Parts: sequence; C-alpha cells; structure tokens
Amino acid sequence: MNQHPVWPFVDEHSPRFHALSDAVWAVPETCYGEHASVALHIAELEHQGFRITRNVAGIPTAVSGEWGDEGPVIAFLGEYDALAGLSQEADMAEPKPLEAGANGHGCGHNMLGSAAMLAATAVRDWLAETDTKARVRYVGCPAEEGGSAKTFMVKEGVFDDVDIAITWHPAAFANVMRSSSLAAARLDFTFTGRASHAAASPHLGRSALDAVELMNVGVNYMREHMSDQARIHYAYIDAGGISPNVVQAAAKVRYVVREPRTRAMMALIERVKKVAEGAAMMSETEMDCQLVTVASERVMAESGVRVV
Ligand SMILES: [Zn+2]
Repeated sequence: MNQHPVWPFVDEHSPRFHALSDAVWAVPETCYGEHASVALHIAELEHQGFRITRNVAGIPTAVSGEWGDEGPVIAFLGEYDALAGLSQEADMAEPKPLEAGANGHGCGHNMLGSAAMLAATAVRDWLAETDTKARVRYVGCPAEEGGSAKTFMVKEGVFDDVDIAITWHPAAFANVMRSSSLAAARLDFTFTGRASHAAASPHLGRSALDAVELMNVGVNYMREHMSDQARIHYAYIDAGGISPNVVQAAAKVRYVVREPRTRAMMALIERVKKVAEGAAMMSETEMDCQLVTVASERVMAESGVRVV
C-alpha cells in the first residue's frame, strides 16, 4: 500500500508529541481538574502556531486551536484527563504505583490528546503544502471519565460548524472503530431520614441507608425485566457514616444507567426512579434525584472509513 503523503509530517512532528504525552503522564489530573495538562496542550498549540481559544464552552480546562480560514472544518478531538487510583510508574507492564491511591493515566489519555494534536498538526502541514482549502481544529476535551464534557460543549455549539470530528483511543491493537457505544446517564439518589440512637430509640429513626439498600434490592430484581443490552451499576457515595449505632439520616448512591439507544435509556431511568420512590416510601425517608451527566450513544459516520 502506498504511504499517504501526510505520514512524513507525522514522523517529523512525533518527538515533540511523545514529549507532550510524557509530560501529561507526569501530571495526572481528573475530571475538570486538568489545569496543568491543558496548560501543556496550550503551550504546544502556541508552539505549532494554532489560533487558540481558551475556556471553550465556559470550561476552564477545555481548549481549541485552529488553523486555516476557509473550507470544511476537520476537528481532531483530544483528551487528557486521568483516573483516580491509577498512579503508575512509566514503561512498566505490572502495577507499580508512584504514590499509592494517587491519580494515573491507566486509560492512556496522556497519549490520546497528544496524538490527536499531532494528527491536526500533520494534516495542517499537508493542507498547507498542497494548498488545499480546509480548516483544522484541535479540540481539547476535558473530563471524558465521569464528566461528559463533550456533551456540555455540544450544548454550547462548539461543534456546530464542524464537518468531521475524528478521535481515537489507545488500545493494544490498531484498527478503525466502527462500533457504537451505549447511551449512558449518571444519577445521584439522595435519601434523607431521621437520626436516632439505634438501640435506645430505634423507633424514632428513619434510615436513609435502609432506603439505599431497598432501592438497590429493587433495581436488582428489575434486572430480569430489562433488555439484554441494558446495564445498570451503582456505587455508594455516602453510606451515612461509620457508626452502626446511629440511624443514618442521610445517604447517597450513584447510579449509571445504560441502553443502546437514548430513548430506551430515558425510559429505563424512569423505572429506576420509581424503585427509588418506592424505597423512600418503604423507609419513610425523602428522596431527591439529581441527573449528573447524560450522553447519547455514539453516532457513527455512514461513509466508509479506511486506514491509510
Ligand atoms: Zn479512556
């Protein structure tokens, strides 16, 4: 297969972007806290001569860099957020935290943003050399893990003029991803009850922790009656404290609800809410439901895509 003429530009720029990837690896930051990481990305965009927009969609750790004045907008989407608890020494295939419990780039987003910007830079060079009219935009998107920043950026119209958006994710193999993804929503259910001494006056207490447990039992029974492809998982955000002898007055559980299509996900969320309401009724507590993030399934391009 003949090599596409863009590849020499990729090779030429690679060393700087390997260095950017290593620099982001060294400052792992999570979910909207990527201040050092975005500063590194901004510095490289400046070095490469892109026109920079900071604070994209009002998000301090989002950035975009653009080149070109006319033609279609080719966007390369990058990420640079890390994950909690994945601190890891570089160049090692076994777990070896630099600092136990600290953040780390186990998901490879240090490479993701860097290589997306490398692609934007190489395409920019090829467009310039061939005098091809197009605009190239690198969009640095924060909080892919748990923050759904792109959905807020979509809401603010960041991608309205984009003709094609290209992204990638590090993996153990190279191919073009043609699969979609599940639509996903995060919801926090907060239950409020009444504290009391669990031995001296248990009859006066109304347990928010009981409510969370009843909700989980209810949702777990619901699993038999959901679609095969639906996914529901939960984690305790606040179990109400560490004292078994105090009736827990407050407790919070975070749910993730997924379905292949957004409409079905919204319907499943309503069923989960009913279970939460039932748990509140049973435990005589109050329930509040807060939607944290929501994202539709990935919409794939219909046209054929190939690796060059
Ligand atoms: Zn990832």
